[in-house]
Amino acid sequence: MEVVQSSEAQKKQYESVMASLGTGVIEVDTKLKVISINKFALTFFHKRKVSTINDHYWHFFLVRNDKGKKTKDAVRLALRKVMRKGKKSKRVPSEVLRVFVRIPKEGVVPLSVNVSAVFSDNDKLTGAVISFRDVAEEAEVDKMKSEVVSLAAHQLRAPMTSIRWNIELFLNGEAGKVSAYQKELLHDIYDSNTRMLKLVNDLLNIARLEEGRVRVEPVNTNLKEVIATVVKTYKDMAVKRKCKVQVVHNVTGSPSIKIDPGLVHEALKNYLTNAIKYSRGAVKVVLEKEKYHYRISVVDNGIGIPPKDKKKIFTKFYRSDEAGEIDPLGSGLGLYIVKMIVRISGGRVGVTSNKDGTTFYLLL
Ligand code: ADP
Repeated sequence: MEVVQSSEAQKKQYESVMASLGTGVIEVDTKLKVISINKFALTFFHKRKVSTINDHYWHFFLVRNDKGKKTKDAVRLALRKVMRKGKKSKRVPSEVLRVFVRIPKEGVVPLSVNVSAVFSDNDKLTGAVISFRDVAEEAEVDKMKSEVVSLAAHQLRAPMTSIRWNIELFLNGEAGKVSAYQKELLHDIYDSNTRMLKLVNDLLNIARLEEGRVRVEPVNTNLKEVIATVVKTYKDMAVKRKCKVQVVHNVTGSPSIKIDPGLVHEALKNYLTNAIKYSRGAVKVVLEKEKYHYRISVVDNGIGIPPKDKKKIFTKFYRSDEAGEIDPLGSGLGLYIVKMIVRISGGRVGVTSNKDGTTFYLLL
């Protein structure tokens, strides 16, 4: 049955629904000043309604890092973004993000935040709405899961390494003579062991990154040198796979920026080894300077990424069927690690791909 209400009754009904929501809702105008706030948000931030209305939301919505220290306000960036998009598009733009906020006398709380543009009846942008919920319990469960993975991986590493040494003794002939057939089998075991060890190491790295145990130590670094070192390290791999790696510098001089060279090296290593594996013989590493950042691209002429999989490419364990055929030993964790590393370093990752090949890039 449909209930027809007067607009006053509708307004009252709307207000009572907002009041009893288990989610915080804050509506802001285009200048990011609070227009309305629901009961949940007021209680959450220990505020009284009068003190919040017409005030900038960031006076009580204190976005911090997980240690409670000041950091860039990702909510503000998202608000600006949805409103910018809202001016141009007919669809309601929204952004979902996870942030930490500091509640005075309580500490730091992780929140899942949704930010959407708001329009009036005549399609005029009036501001945006921030809705949020406390995800402390989910974050705790994630942390526990990550700790279990980390513990299991640690425990697995020692016996796997011992298996490896023993296989090596057989393969070197130090543990007695083995027949050609036995050698073949031992090589298979050795390859599987390599794969398992890589997986274990990747899982340990991911656990360290996810638990915030990886420290970023930025120093002035010459990007050309980082690229040269990575390319040199994987020269033999490229030769083996008959792949020509070319370095192109579209910048003059020695571009030096404050980054953690070890982390950027690790990210670039993943891009380059993938490009060598999945290319059809030609890879280019390009360094460019753009308005606000440096861009390092790894361009290949390889198998490409199926358009339907583009969204999944930086997620854990994603592998295309074709990649599985080319390299059965891959784990599908490398690109996830790249994304995590670049995120904590304050940069961005991305990919473009078509039938002629793929370009992975880092913005630093
Ligand atoms: P792995 O290479 O060990 O599988 P990654 O996380 O590095 O793990 O890559 C995940 C998947 O992304 C690969 O299995 C492949 O399907 C795809 N991929 C990565 N790099 C490329 C590339 N240069 N060209 C085409 N596909 C790629």
